[in-house]
Amino acid sequence: MSIPDPRVFADVTPGAVIGLPNLCRSLLRQQRESWPMCRDGYASLGSIQTRSLGLNGHALHLQFNPGRIVSTGAKVDPASIKQRRCFLCVAHLPPEQQGIRYGKHLLILCNPAPIFSEHFTISHVEHCGQRLDRHVHTMLRLAADLAPAFSVFYNGPRCGASAPDHFHFQAAPFSAIPTVAEAAGPRSTPVCEIGTVQVSTIAGYGRTVATLRASDPEEVAVAVDRFLSAWRRVDGHTDEPMTNVIATRMEKVYQVVIFLRRKHRPEAFFKEGDEQVLVSPAAVDIGGLVITPREREFSTLTSEALSGIFDEVSCGPEVLKQIVEAL
Ligand SMILES: [Zn+2]
Repeated sequence: MSIPDPRVFADVTPGAVIGLPNLCRSLLRQQRESWPMCRDGYASLGSIQTRSLGLNGHALHLQFNPGRIVSTGAKVDPASIKQRRCFLCVAHLPPEQQGIRYGKHLLILCNPAPIFSEHFTISHVEHCGQRLDRHVHTMLRLAADLAPAFSVFYNGPRCGASAPDHFHFQAAPFSAIPTVAEAAGPRSTPVCEIGTVQVSTIAGYGRTVATLRASDPEEVAVAVDRFLSAWRRVDGHTDEPMTNVIATRMEKVYQVVIFLRRKHRPEAFFKEGDEQVLVSPAAVDIGGLVITPREREFSTLTSEALSGIFDEVSCGPEVLKQIVEAL
């Protein structure tokens, strides 16, 4: 599908673009001036609240953000997805929305319901499903082109993507998701090596993660593919394993954090009345910035309660061990 030109704010070539972060910021400025929904979304960021809890000495924050109710509460079962109009398809974008065309296949768009002061959705120009293994190289290239300003993240189709049927990444300010720094920090613990790629985890993190780090993006891409393939074998089925992924380039090192998930939403999400806990963990939340669209969760959730939710939706450490053995 070709994109009508009025949609294209700028055209860039992956790997050969200088200053992509500033171009993204120019797009955001333009969209906040010309697109009321985007302007209102960013204006509402002024009234969000944050509360820092901490968990086992690791960063853990709550963000009260009523604008995220649509995403947090979204029905993502296949029947509901089939019935709704895909909001990432180019033909369905609001008339004011523009994007930066990144190569032939991706369009960098402003997210009109932001979690961050700068929040982008990077979607495929075709309506094709969320599946990481075909796009690992592109994710690393994006992480390099957006460094040092932004990190790139991905939510699997069964654990956090609100458009599981339309391929997309998102981008956030570099250190806005606490895991980005924690994965490179002193509690990073070596697990194994895949070629030149160091695989580590984070000690005492309360959720199971694998961090893959190396300076050669090709080797990192191969290692991510091998890791996901080994996980599929451990899982025993062909679907993409349930994962949230955050990719960055720090100086010359590429870092990919892979969260090992076993469930999208905790049981309490589906309860009613006072028993319901409206938390729907995706990359940002499991990465240490938990979004609560309702005031109730924001003011009452404790470290212990969130620790229980992380535990419920994450694989146990034995799964990482099995994956490493199956590599
Ligand atoms: Zn679509």
